[in-house]
This record gives sequence, C-alpha cells and structure tokens, in this order.
Amino acid sequence: STREWQQADSKHFLHPFTDFGSLNKKGSRIITKAEGIYIWDSEGHKILDAMSGLWCVNVGYGQQSLIDAATRQMKELPFYNAFFQTATPPSIELAELLAQVSPPGFEHVFFTGSGSEGNDTIVRMVRRYWDILGQPERHVIISRKNGYHGSTMAGASLGGMSYMHAQGGLPIPGIVHIDQPYWYENGRDMSRADFGKVAAGWLEAKILEVGPEKVAAFIGEPVQGAGGVIVPPETYWPEIQRICDQYGILLVSDEVICGFGRTGHWFGSQTMGSKPDLMTFAKGVTSGYIPLGGVMVGDRVAKVLIEQGGDFNHGFTYSGHPVAAAVAVANIKLIQQLRLVEHVRDNVGPYLAEQFESLRDHPLVGDVDHCGMMAGLLLVKDKAKGTPFPSELEVGMVCRGHCFGNGLIMRAVGDRMIIAPPLVMSRAQIDELMALVRKCLDLTLADANRQG
Ligand code: PLP
Repeated sequence: STREWQQADSKHFLHPFTDFGSLNKKGSRIITKAEGIYIWDSEGHKILDAMSGLWCVNVGYGQQSLIDAATRQMKELPFYNAFFQTATPPSIELAELLAQVSPPGFEHVFFTGSGSEGNDTIVRMVRRYWDILGQPERHVIISRKNGYHGSTMAGASLGGMSYMHAQGGLPIPGIVHIDQPYWYENGRDMSRADFGKVAAGWLEAKILEVGPEKVAAFIGEPVQGAGGVIVPPETYWPEIQRICDQYGILLVSDEVICGFGRTGHWFGSQTMGSKPDLMTFAKGVTSGYIPLGGVMVGDRVAKVLIEQGGDFNHGFTYSGHPVAAAVAVANIKLIQQLRLVEHVRDNVGPYLAEQFESLRDHPLVGDVDHCGMMAGLLLVKDKAKGTPFPSELEVGMVCRGHCFGNGLIMRAVGDRMIIAPPLVMSRAQIDELMALVRKCLDLTLADANRQG
C-alpha cells in the first residue's frame, strides 16, 4: 500500500537534493506507472508530466521499440566493457549514429554513465588537450553562476549553484564563474539584444582577469535548464563564440537537457548559433529509459588526442554499456522516424511559445521564456514594477503544490515555474497543459491575495 511504501522509503531511501528529515514528515508520492505524457501515482491519480521525468523522457513513456531493444540486448549480451580494446555492436552502432546526428565536425564520442560523468570527462579532456599542446598552465575553465552541470565534484564545481558549493568545499581549483544572461533580472534597463552582448562581454572580462594564456575552456548550457529555463538573447551565443575564437579558448556546450530535439534542432547549440568544440550529452539520448551519457568530441580536440595524445587515463565501467547503447540507438531511430526534431521546430515548439506568451496577461506573471519544448514563467508580486514576492512566502512552491494537487508536474526554481514536456506532445495536449497551468496560477493568485 502507499502507506507501506512511504514508511519504507523514509526509513531507508535518502533522496537526491532533498532534506532527508522532511520525508519522514510528509512522505513521498509514489509513482507507479506511465504512458505517453502521463504518469500515475500509487493512489491512481493521473498526472501530466510536463517535466519529462527530469528533462529526459523526450519520446514519452511506454515506447515499445526501446523496451524491445533493451530486452533483446539483455538476452544477447547484458554487459561487456570497452577497456580491453573490446567493444560491443550496439556501442559501435551508437557511436556511428551520434556522429550522424551531430553537427559537422563531430566524428568521435566518449561514453559515460551520466551527464555529471560527462562533465567530469570534459574537465579532464580539455586540460589534457592543452597539456598535449605544451600549455599546461592553460587549465582554467570558465562557467556560469546558476548553471547546472551535475553533482560530481567537477560537475558541481562547473555548475554555479552557490548552495551546492557551500557543501563539500567546492568549487575545485581552476574553475571560475561569470554571471548568467538573465535579462529580466540583470538587464531590463536595455534591449534584450544589447543585454546579450553585455552579458557575453562578462566572459571577455573574466578571460582578461584570469589571463588569456591560462584559460582552457568556457562551458555553458545553450538554455540554462535547472537554473530556471533562462533563454539567452539571440545576440548572446554568437558573441560568446566570437570571444572564444578570439582567445583560442575551447567552447563546450552542455547539451544534457538541450540535446536530442528539445530546442527544435538535434542540439541546442545549433538553435543558438554556436559551434562548440565539445558537447556533453545524457538524458534525451535514451529518453531516460536507461542511464547513459557522454561527450561528443569535435575534430579540433579529437585530432590532438588521437594523433598526439597517447593514453587518456579516464573511463567508466559503463562507458559504452551495450544495453544502454541499444536503447539509445532505438531512441534516436524513433526520434528520426517520428520526425520529432521537426515536430518541435515547426509545430509544437512555436505553439507552446504562443501559449506561454498569452500568459503575460495573468496578474502573477512577470515574464515568460520559451525555446522549443522548454518554457518558464516568473511569478511576481507587482507586475508593473516587477517586484518579487518576499522569499519566505515561497510562492513557487505554493504554485508547485497546486500543480501537483491538480494533476500537473511543473517544477519551481525559486519563483520561476518551468516545464520541459515530452517532445511527442500534440497541440491538443498542449491545450490541456495550458488549462492546468492557468488553473494553478489562479489558485496561487488566490493564495497570494489572501496573504496580502
Ligand atoms: N548538465 C545539465 C545541463 C543537466 O541538466 C544535468 C542534470 O540535470 C547534468 C549535467 C547532470 O546529469 P546527470 O544527472 O545525468 O549526472
């Protein structure tokens, strides 16, 4: 029963990013099954999953071809590693397929088990690259405040979440941060286009402060996801690209959320108009059906590592796991077959954008952001002035509670409410989603009015 699950859960299971004590008090909601864009809890409630699990279930739940691929591969060869100059057919097929769907100039992949491990790999790989080129002082990596790059020591260090740095002595040496391109918070006194250039200029300022000869790479998410779906102005990434080119710095795109169609291209950097040297991926590569991550290595880095590198002393038991690779192959083929990238770019992405724009008339909504199948809105106390709610009201959590109670998963990042629904959604399902969003905003407004 639900009660028994909850008791065992709070007794034994330490959940990620959770106050361990709170589980004893509240009890978890137990999710038991899923189909399409919906999940069900153990009490039988049907919930529209507008977060695709955790930004990952791009093809929706219950896709038979992924299930069959896993079953077949489990029976045939459940595991073999890639350490002993060995490889398995699915991992090779996946490497080839990834090269096909990546932008030109990406022919190589290094597999990991997760996005965090992918970003750890990035840190070691870019430093190794400069070592091989005889520039070992070039080890500093620049990333952004409020960016999210995972939970390992290096991933959390690259990330700019100060509440994560506060635990465990982070960031590790050689990682520095610049501000995020969040127009509403940092640049409302200028146009979005001007602000995009100003925000990119913070990278140049940081490079000059650190010393260009010490900077190895810049890493960023095309659209900051866990930071609250912060969509940068169109001028931002081209200017970042120009600055990286000018100083010869490697550009790394963290595509863990934005990859595999989410923004209307295979990779978010394509939507944003940048040409990274390395791309981290995970999540959507298997639609979350099974863990898998990795790094797409562009020609500039691959050439040096392959031709001059010698051993790269790095790797994971599950680098190229055959079952995960088989699921990824099935997933990518399904994305191709259903034309999901085009579906997002030409159909549901623009439709979701239109619907989110229409929320600007709601008294609680200060701003909206959207890109493909990701969107966010900011809850504000005074729309005209853009005044935030007092933080102790936790208005985002109040709204999230209403969503949960009314059959909708929407995530709260402070007072930003964000979604990243499955790419398979139809327009009619977006209408259903928007009706729920409006209902939950109204309920939150009623609460806010009661609180004065
Ligand atoms: N990078 C980004 C942009 C992410 O959003 C995440 C996870 O949410 C990660 C990296 C870490 O991935 P994982 O949780 O698979 O380690």
